[in-house]
Amino acid sequence: MTDRPTDLFVDGTWRPAASGRRFDVHDPATGEVIASVADAGAEDALAALEAAHRAQAPWGRTPTRVRAEILRRAFDALTARSEEFARLITAEMGKPLAESRAEVAYGAEFLRWFSEEAPRISGRYLEAPDGANRLLVRKRPVGPCLLITPWNFPIAMATRKIAPAIAAGCTMVLKPADLTPLTSLLFTELLAEVGLPDGVLNVVTTTDPAAISGPLLADERLRKLSFTGSTPVGRRLIAASADRVLKVSMELGGNAPFVVCADADVDAAVEGAVVAKMRNGGEACVAANRLLVHRSVAEEFTAKLAARLSAFVVGPGDAPGTTLGPLIDERSRAKVAGLVDDAVAAGATVLTGGSVPEGPGWFYPPTVLADVRPEMTIANEEIFGPVAPVLVFDTEEEAVALANASEFGLVSFVFTRDLDRALRLSERLEAGMIGINTGVVSNPAAPFGGVKASGLGREGGAEGIEEYLETIYVGIRDPYATAEAGVA
Ligand code: NAD
Repeated sequence: MTDRPTDLFVDGTWRPAASGRRFDVHDPATGEVIASVADAGAEDALAALEAAHRAQAPWGRTPTRVRAEILRRAFDALTARSEEFARLITAEMGKPLAESRAEVAYGAEFLRWFSEEAPRISGRYLEAPDGANRLLVRKRPVGPCLLITPWNFPIAMATRKIAPAIAAGCTMVLKPADLTPLTSLLFTELLAEVGLPDGVLNVVTTTDPAAISGPLLADERLRKLSFTGSTPVGRRLIAASADRVLKVSMELGGNAPFVVCADADVDAAVEGAVVAKMRNGGEACVAANRLLVHRSVAEEFTAKLAARLSAFVVGPGDAPGTTLGPLIDERSRAKVAGLVDDAVAAGATVLTGGSVPEGPGWFYPPTVLADVRPEMTIANEEIFGPVAPVLVFDTEEEAVALANASEFGLVSFVFTRDLDRALRLSERLEAGMIGINTGVVSNPAAPFGGVKASGLGREGGAEGIEEYLETIYVGIRDPYATAEAGVA
């Protein structure tokens, strides 16, 4: 993989960090080093921002059709090179190849979606209610953005920000996660190949993100921060954005309840739970974190779920037949194992999985826990691993109270065959997204995002581009005023 880009990308040029420092990227299935990447510092970041700042004015004036066509070419190129990207994602992030291919398809859709949204940026012209003025409302790009992405979806989390920024006419400094920088760097090369002008997208990889975000957020050339990652880091970045009143978008952590009602189709609920729990090995902000199951179906649901999860094939993501890869690193695995051990010590029962396997790589088996109670730590923290804790409820009221008893509010899932109940729950659950009889809500055409401590703003859908636009209003004197005043 040595011919892939591993340097910083500033103003259309690949270059090493000013300090000359580099850091290693590991394969989580083996722990082996697969690449060495430039380790940027503040000086590199400010050079990237300067390039973005210089490119902003001409890029903001570039016709939306031109921006749309760059995105469309990027969609075509990424789709054509799907296998190459999928293999790179698996190498640095660990997920099975089939899931990496699915992520590339999902990530590419943001390019296509926002290529279609770019020419639809619009405004309006209206008459003030008192008739005295005309009101012209238009949109313009926010300006240079800092985009910070996590490691769990190396391509999709990047395209979900880059595509709307391109569509809106914003320039960017992208800081990918240091655990998975290679996919973003390869995608940056692809964007340059399909004609993205120099300076529009600049990329800095680093092991010291605070050393980069501090000076960038304090710099008056930066106009926006879009962050996807954990809630604690998001909080710090919101605070750091306050001084300069930056526009911020925050896609933060989740603690998704997955509610199985007494009237649910239990087999469909099991299949939904398998997807909601096991997609990305549970390393997803939308992963089902707490399975809340009505007492009357709890035993059947839990037994069937344990049977389905114990059939997963654990192994390196590129090995034939693998359906569950390793966790991202040792720290993540220790956290997942600690949550399970803590729950078991507090009285939870392991139905499958539950212990760290021997051997290299950061593997953890699919695990189902019964007898979980709401006060256990595992029911209150984002697990980010293939562990399904099952909690039992007796009434709809209790299910709603349990589901909402979290500072997070990203997504909730509901399985029921009663339409009124489904609609009632979708109105009562405190979440930015609700899945009804489905374990998947992610869709480029949908507004993705959370309420409460799960974030601010939305990515995707018609809403996604608005995060990169500002609304400007022009007040115009009544055009008839001159005629009425007798001016020829
Ligand atoms: P993280 O918060 O540790 O890191 C996210 C990114 O922030 C990385 O690029 C990291 O280098 C950077 N970062 C860390 N400290 C920083 C600082 N002080 N200044 C600037 N940047 C900093 O999260 P993670 O472990 O990479 O990702 C997992 C988390 O992301 C989970 O909580 C998950 O729920 C969340 N997530 C949310 C969404 C969503 O759309 N809501 C999507 C994916 C992941």
